[in-house]
Amino acid sequence: AEEALRQSQKMEAVGQLTGGIAHDFNNLLTGVIGSLDLIRTRIAQGRAGDIERYVDAAMSSANRAAALTHRLLAFSRRQPLDPKPVDANALVASMEELFRRTVRETIQVELRSCRDLWLTLCDPNQLESALLNLVINARDAMPDGGSIAIGTDNVELDDAYAATQQDVKPGPYVALSVSDTGSGMSDDVLARVFEPFFTTKPIGQGTGLGLSMVYGFVRQSGGHVRISSAIGRGTTVTILLPRYLGDTELQDPSATAVSGARA
Ligand code: ADP
Repeated sequence: AEEALRQSQKMEAVGQLTGGIAHDFNNLLTGVIGSLDLIRTRIAQGRAGDIERYVDAAMSSANRAAALTHRLLAFSRRQPLDPKPVDANALVASMEELFRRTVRETIQVELRSCRDLWLTLCDPNQLESALLNLVINARDAMPDGGSIAIGTDNVELDDAYAATQQDVKPGPYVALSVSDTGSGMSDDVLARVFEPFFTTKPIGQGTGLGLSMVYGFVRQSGGHVRISSAIGRGTTVTILLPRYLGDTELQDPSATAVSGARA
C-alpha cells in the first residue's frame, strides 16, 4: 500500500508537471502562430521585405518551446535542474520583444530595471516561463488596453516581515514584479489563485495552471510570491527570489534541498 501511495503521488507530480509544460508550450506556440500570421499578411500585402524580424520572433519562440520539452525529458530521466546565478535585468531585457508580441497594440509594455541589481540563484528557464505567465495574465486582465510594467528591485526582508509570513526566511532577495492596470481581483479570487486548475477564464482560454506553476517554481527556489490587487485598478504580482551570494551558496543546504526535491 505504501508503494502504491508513493506511486500515485509520483504520478500526480508528473501529471502536474506535464500539465504545466503543456500550458507553457501552448503559450509559446501562440507566439509562433502569431508571427507566422503576420508574415502571411505581409506577403499578401506585397510587403515581404520586412518579414525578417517576424521570422526571428517565430524562431525564438520555437527554440524556447524546444527547451521546454527538453526539460520534460530531463525530468523523466530524473535529472535535477540546476539553479544558476541569474542577472534578472538581462533576462527581462532579453524577453522584452516576446512580451510586446504577446500583448495587443492597446497595451503598453514598460521595463523598470533597478540599477546595481543583485544576482539571484534560480533556474533561468523556469523564471522565463514564470514571467511570461504573469505577462499573459496581465494582458488577459486588460481587454480594453492599459499598461504593463515589469520591474526589478533589491529587497531586504527583515525578521518582522518574515514572522508575518509562512516559511519565509529573512534576508536579501531579488524582486521581479509585473504590474497591470487591469480588472484586479476580488478577495475570493485572490484566495484561490495559486490552486492548480483554478481559473475564471472561459473554457479553452484558461487552464488555471499559470500561477500555481509560478508559485511552485518560486517556492522550490527558496523564494516567495506576493500579490496586491484592487478591483478596477489593477494587480501587481511580485516574485522574490533569494540573492546569490557567491559560490558558497551552492553548498548551502537550502540549495541542495532544491535539487533534492526534484530528484
Ligand atoms: P489562468 O490564467 O489559466 O486562468 P492562472 O493560475 O494564471 O490561470 O490564474 C488564475 C486566475 O487568477 C485567473 O483566471 C484570473 O481570475 C486570476 N488572475 C491571475 N492574474 C491576474 C491579473 N493580473 N489580474 C486579474 N486577475 C488575475
